[in-house]
Amino acid sequence: MHIGFIGLGNMGGPMARNLLAAGHRLSVHDLSLEAIEGLVEAGAGAVGSVAELGASDAELIITMLPAASHVRQVYLGENGLLAAVAPGVRLIDSSTIDPMTAREVAAAAIQQGNPMLDAPVSGGTGGAEAGTLTFMVGGAAADHDAALPVLRTMGKNIVHCGPAGNGQVAKVANNMLLAISMIGVSEAMSLGVSLGMDPKTLAGIINTSSGRCWSSDTYNPYPGVIEAAPATRGYSGGFGADLMLKDLGLATEAAKQQKQPVMLGALAQQLYQTFSNQGHGTLDFSAIIKMYSGEEQ
Ligand code: NAD
Repeated sequence: MHIGFIGLGNMGGPMARNLLAAGHRLSVHDLSLEAIEGLVEAGAGAVGSVAELGASDAELIITMLPAASHVRQVYLGENGLLAAVAPGVRLIDSSTIDPMTAREVAAAAIQQGNPMLDAPVSGGTGGAEAGTLTFMVGGAAADHDAALPVLRTMGKNIVHCGPAGNGQVAKVANNMLLAISMIGVSEAMSLGVSLGMDPKTLAGIINTSSGRCWSSDTYNPYPGVIEAAPATRGYSGGFGADLMLKDLGLATEAAKQQKQPVMLGALAQQLYQTFSNQGHGTLDFSAIIKMYSGEEQ
C-alpha cells in the first residue's frame, strides 16, 4: 500500500520505519529536513509539503504531531491535508491531543468523504521501535477494521474505543491515572524510607499487597529498586515530565469542558507544573519523587 506519513519525530520516525519494513511504499514529510533524510535513507520518498503529500496517490495518510495546534494546522490549515486529499483517502492521527479537537477534525474529514480515525498510542519510543505500541482507536468500526493490518505493523494491542475522539479519551484517562499513581507511589516510598524502611523491602511489600500498581512494580520511582527503571539511571530516557504535564493539561481541560471534577488530576497537574518550573521537565516523569525527597536522590 502507498502510505503517507507526516511527523517523523521520536515516535513517528520509528513507526514509519516499521511501515517500510513491512513492505509498504512510504512518502514522508516533516518540518525537519534531518528527520526526512533519516527516513529517505531507509527507503522512503520525501515530499516537500503537507499539501503535496495530500495530493499524491497515497491511499492512507498517518500523522504523528506534537500537539493539537499542529494537528489543526496540518489538517485544517489553508495548505493543509483536507484541502488537498481526494475523497476516499483514509486518515489516521496518532498524536496525543484533546478529544474535542480530534472530534472536530474527524467531522471535517468525514464530511468531505475521508474516513478518519484518532489513534493515539502508549508504549513510548521503545514500543515505537519494537512495533509493540498500544493503539487506542476512535472512529467508525468499519474504518478501524480497515486500518487494522497497517496498525498491526506498528503495534501489538489495537483497541477500538468507540466513535471519533474516544481513542483520545482513553489515552487522557489512562495517563491522568498514571500521573496520580506515580505521585502516590513517590509519597508512600518517601514516607516509608524516611521512617527507616529499606526501599527494596518496602517496594516488595507494596508489590505483593493492596498498594500494588505499575508505578510501583514496574517503574518504581525510588532509585535502585528496579534495575530497568529510569530512576536507576538518573531519570534519563523514559517518558518526560513535560510530556506528562502536557497530557495532564489535556485531561483537566477535557474535564472542564465536561464539567467533570478531577480533583487528583488537577493536583497532579500542579505538582508536575511546579516540577517543570524547577527545571526538571526533561527528566523522566517518575522523578516527581524529588518533590518529596530532595535533589540528592
Ligand atoms: P516529536 O516532537 O519528537 O516529533 C514531532 C514531529 O512533528 C517533529 O519531527 C516535528 O518537526 C514534526 N512537525 C511538527 N509540526 C509539523 C508540521 N506542521 N508539518 C510537518 N511536521 C511537523 O514528538 P514525539 O515524541 O514523536 O510525539 C508525537 C506525539 O506522540 C505527541 O502528541 C506525544 O504526546 C505523543 N506520544 C509521545 C510519546 C513519547 O514517549 N515520546 C509516547 C506516547 C505518545
